[in-house]
Amino acid sequence: MQDRANKDIAVVGGGIIGVSIALKLQSLGYDVAIYDRKGIAAEASQGNAGAFAFSEIVPLATPGILTKAPKWLLDPMGPLSIPPAYALQLAPWMLRFWRASWKDRYHASMAAQAELMSLSRQALERQIEATQGERLMQRDGQLQLFEGEKEFRASLPVWETRRAHGIRFELLSSAEEIAEIQPGLDHRFTHAGFTPDWTNTLDPKAWCQHLADRFCALGGKVELQEVTGVSLEGGKPKLRLGGAVHHPDKVVLAAGAWSHHLARQLGEKIPLETERGYNTTLPKGAFDLRTHVTFGSHGFVASRINGGVRIGGAVELGGLKRAPNYRRADVLLKKAQRFMPGLQTEGGQQWMGFRPSMPDSLPVIGCASASPSVIFAFGHGHLGLTQSAATAELVVSLITGARESQLLRAFAPQRFS
Ligand SMILES: Cc1cc2nc3c(=O)[nH]c(=O)nc-3n(C[C@H](O)[C@H](O)[C@H](O)COP(=O)(O)OP(=O)(O)OC[C@H]3O[C@@H](n4cnc5c(N)ncnc54)[C@H](O)[C@@H]3O)c2cc1C
Repeated sequence: MQDRANKDIAVVGGGIIGVSIALKLQSLGYDVAIYDRKGIAAEASQGNAGAFAFSEIVPLATPGILTKAPKWLLDPMGPLSIPPAYALQLAPWMLRFWRASWKDRYHASMAAQAELMSLSRQALERQIEATQGERLMQRDGQLQLFEGEKEFRASLPVWETRRAHGIRFELLSSAEEIAEIQPGLDHRFTHAGFTPDWTNTLDPKAWCQHLADRFCALGGKVELQEVTGVSLEGGKPKLRLGGAVHHPDKVVLAAGAWSHHLARQLGEKIPLETERGYNTTLPKGAFDLRTHVTFGSHGFVASRINGGVRIGGAVELGGLKRAPNYRRADVLLKKAQRFMPGLQTEGGQQWMGFRPSMPDSLPVIGCASASPSVIFAFGHGHLGLTQSAATAELVVSLITGARESQLLRAFAPQRFS
């Protein structure tokens, strides 16, 4: 039941998280405005791989990960990189990442992630139905490839974990079986796991815009404004927008990789970093891609976007200010050409985006310490598109007071204080 006295809500951020939240709140009768300095889907939500990756329940901070990282870091163009000048600034986040990899914390994060993924799947279906969005979906599953028996065997415990969490998959142990799902791959890939329930959007930018168009058609406002300040005045939130000031009843802070700077103005210290990722989008006809393909040990994926192919991935822990290094996108494309021999690499468009990442791979969804009228919703890392509809439902439950679940405790903004 809506509290009529608290119906004016400002959502900061017009990415997939902010737009999903705005639309869901609007459907319950709230007056919602989105504030974004660049417009809808202008950052990470624009150029991602487009996957609703429901089977990805394993946090990045796995036990023993830091013993493997130095090997990856030795290759400056490898799947993980840290610019040397940024290493010192990154150290506190890396320390928390290391702590998150301890077995008890790792298992707790995985349990929370699995529950969120289950909600995400159901919430996405509700969102697609409510917005008549099926035409923007591709339901072709995902193929995760392995080079040889040894690499495949090493992945088996993770598949068992997925099974324990009710995730459907099929394991393939020959290049011929793989070719039945995706022909044209190099035969070095001898094993694979196929997850049929992955869904991809035709284009993540178009999906976010579709939701925003729906929001506007139903009376929602999108303001092209930079929010320069968030504070409290008489217990009520106050937003500074350039020269102007706005006093909404509630604020939802969903500003992706920039959110912690605004949260800091309310006294909240949140260890948010950015994992920068790169890709190249090739035009229609580049390759006959039939499913989303993950080249796990090489740190990149191939997904079908608007009939073309997007080749992307990599993790560069390099902060928000450094210029993009598009050689990373070149390296991924070259590798893809080796692994997908018929791939036509001409006419590609390169892109870099800022994943908003927490050390434990879990998002921040919860109220600010300073006031229950400011809600944080950011930090979804590699999985913001996947978890957007579920995040919207969880934020609504915080605003309406409908649910105070154990799940929300795992996402508390204060969990690292
Ligand atoms: C290469 C790559 C591939 C990825 N692939 C996938 C995938 O396949 N599946 C998946 O689930 N996820 C994927 N992700 C992650 C996903 O893109 C992000 O988690 C998600 O887009 C984050 O959404 P967001 O709304 O939180 O942030 P963003 O999309 O970054 O939106 C934040 C918005 O806030 C605005 N903003 C910031 N500060 C202010 C301010 N002060 N005032 C006003 N506006 C402000 C920005 O302009 C921006 O529009 C990928 C990411 C990358 C980089």
